[in-house]
Amino acid sequence: MSKANEELMERIVSLCKRRGFVFPSSEIYGGFAAVYDYGPYGVELENNIKDFWWREMVQRREDIVGLDSAIFMHPKIWEASGHVAGFSDPLVECKKCHARLRLDHLLEEVGVQADEKMTEEEINKLFLENAEKIACPSCKAKNFTSGKKFNLLVKSNLGNITEDPKEQPVYLRGETCQGIYVNFKNVLDSVRVKIPFGIAQIGKAFRNEITARQFIFRTREFEQMEMQYFTSPEDEMKEYEKLRKRRWEYYLKLGLSEKNLKWHKHEKLVFYAKEAYDIEYKFPFGFKEVEGVHARGNYDLSQHTKFSGKDLSYTDPQTGKKFIPHVIEASVGVARTVLAVLTEAYTEEKIGSETRVVMKFPKILAPIKIAVFPLLKNKPELVKKAHEVFGSLKENYMCEFDDNGNIGKRYRRQDEIGTPYCVTIDFDTLNDGSVTVRDRDTMKQERIKIADLEAFFQSNF
Ligand code: ATP
Repeated sequence: MSKANEELMERIVSLCKRRGFVFPSSEIYGGFAAVYDYGPYGVELENNIKDFWWREMVQRREDIVGLDSAIFMHPKIWEASGHVAGFSDPLVECKKCHARLRLDHLLEEVGVQADEKMTEEEINKLFLENAEKIACPSCKAKNFTSGKKFNLLVKSNLGNITEDPKEQPVYLRGETCQGIYVNFKNVLDSVRVKIPFGIAQIGKAFRNEITARQFIFRTREFEQMEMQYFTSPEDEMKEYEKLRKRRWEYYLKLGLSEKNLKWHKHEKLVFYAKEAYDIEYKFPFGFKEVEGVHARGNYDLSQHTKFSGKDLSYTDPQTGKKFIPHVIEASVGVARTVLAVLTEAYTEEKIGSETRVVMKFPKILAPIKIAVFPLLKNKPELVKKAHEVFGSLKENYMCEFDDNGNIGKRYRRQDEIGTPYCVTIDFDTLNDGSVTVRDRDTMKQERIKIADLEAFFQSNF
């Protein structure tokens, strides 16, 4: 990362803490690594992103339905999915400073792509072939142990009151899509869907990430927004191309600029996959994955048919043809989207000799839509009127009331949390019923009648 990008990242992280977007977990207890809490503005931003995704992926589709499956599932599911045996990251230890590092990340730094499904042996071989190029990011030494794999599933002792070591462990789900696969038949039998159709879900997932890094980019507890689309074998690749196109357009609609997005094609595919692409965003630390769009063949439903003994095949009502549906998926992390949106929005502008920091969120994503101020907090008639305006606007918009400090300071604070409009109630308001509306991006102020505010915001949001 360049010095400038490192500083940019620091500024974003510091704004997140200072302005109530993201807090380190358990801070008063000294912190808890690789877990973060979302503050009052962070949770609004997250919710707006999740609503946006849900509208695009479920509400506006005829062929996709929602689901909310539980975090705990039958332990066999994780055997069927391959996670118990294979869901692990190979690690090495630096012999000099004892930092534990992910082999695939070290390889990535020198431009070598390791596939997540490679065996320990294969990845060690790749590492040895590139060893002279790879240095420890902490101490710069080039002396490592050989790689070992660690399982990423997070174990729980739910229901395991006997603590019998032979009992199969229960896991916190490592991905949300397994809940979709195991409910495929339930959805099919209870809702009027026919193939091709999709099931979408938003929910928490847990992974024992070894090197959690880059703020909220990689954490041990995170949220996924996943859509699994079930197709016939013949239509899989046609639907896959459609999904890829839609997912690209989704990010443009979300307000990310095209120059900051790119496709990354997986060169080494898992044996069952037909094709796999990731959508990457240009974070301050470089282009990194935000979403995976993968064509997975019929692996998922075949595995669950095998492990559960239940037939998960589908019979086409028109042709009578029976087959195990193929799956194409679009899987994205909420936090990675939050970080991409924060990066895209973060703006520093020179205003005279001062620097204005403003989060230029698209209006639809802004945590607070309108801030309402009485010009002075010790004038009861202004405060009363401001509360009245606030009370009517908050019926339809997430609003904030602020009577602290001078107006300039209040504007700066709202700029930093990305509020598109500020409404100020002053002495003229009491005479003519109009208020000042200030625009975040242009900083222009205009007088608008209180009676016209609703219409003004309706046309501007
Ligand atoms: P990576 O290669 O970065 O570890 P992945 O390929 O393992 O990610 P998937 O299993 O495909 O990720 O999960 C789908 C999405 O879930 C990712 O694109 C990412 O947005 C999100 N995600 C995965 N792991 C994490 C994590 N530890 N923290 C935050 N988000 C994550």
